[in-house]
Amino acid sequence: MKLPARRAHGFFLSVLLGAALFSGCATGPQLLPESFLENMAVSQFAQMKQEMPVSQNPVHVEQVERIGARLAAAVAEEMPDMEWEFVVFDDPSINAFAMPGGKVGVFSGLIELSESDDELAVVIGHEIAHVQQRHANQRLSAELIRMGLGVAVAYGATRQDQVDPNLVMAAYGLGTQVGVMLPFGRHHEYEADYKGLLIMARAGYDPYAAVTFWEKMEAASDRGSVPEYLSTHPAPGNRIARLKAAIPEALREQEHAEAQAFLRERGLVEE
Ligand SMILES: [Zn+2]
Repeated sequence: MKLPARRAHGFFLSVLLGAALFSGCATGPQLLPESFLENMAVSQFAQMKQEMPVSQNPVHVEQVERIGARLAAAVAEEMPDMEWEFVVFDDPSINAFAMPGGKVGVFSGLIELSESDDELAVVIGHEIAHVQQRHANQRLSAELIRMGLGVAVAYGATRQDQVDPNLVMAAYGLGTQVGVMLPFGRHHEYEADYKGLLIMARAGYDPYAAVTFWEKMEAASDRGSVPEYLSTHPAPGNRIARLKAAIPEALREQEHAEAQAFLRERGLVEE
């Protein structure tokens, strides 16, 4: 694809400026329209369901759907356009992932490691937080900038009505896998832990489960069965300390949510 260089450059600068103005230091630039990533995620998720065994275990499926629905409800106000989908993949890996648009995959190995809805809500909450914070967009944007491709891809993505996103990504050598599945950096992982803890607490789950869950992950990694999930995530010991420190705030968030629900029940606040 040929690009009118000057126009693309102007667009790129304004995107960068916009990102710098509005994102602060906590987040990276988001070069791509979120809908662009969502479209990619939808087709990639559909492909994964074709290629990987989807679990037929009714206990696992029901558990993940039950928890997913509660967590999705806890973020519904701030993320009204998500089309959440929670799928269990029959795979012994200790792993889970989430994609833009609300496509969440949980591997049965992870369900077997966790021993309660609360513990599983820790991981699914963490994954939902990645979507909530648009980490995929930041991660991909940073990668595109590093590769010097920010201009071209940002330009292509604004014309998504005319361009197949898969073609755009392929044209820049990224492949469609990369966009939504790039491993996150440490900063994004800690942020997803923290925001995920608030989400699961708001949904009515016990935030202390974050500590027991990550202790199990640590034990699994000490046994040498290095969980998949850890290969892209910070060491459990570090995150446990941070999660412990955030528990009081998560509990306050939970009390507030419970009070709101009670007031709604009594017709004392607007729906
Ligand atoms: Zn993560």
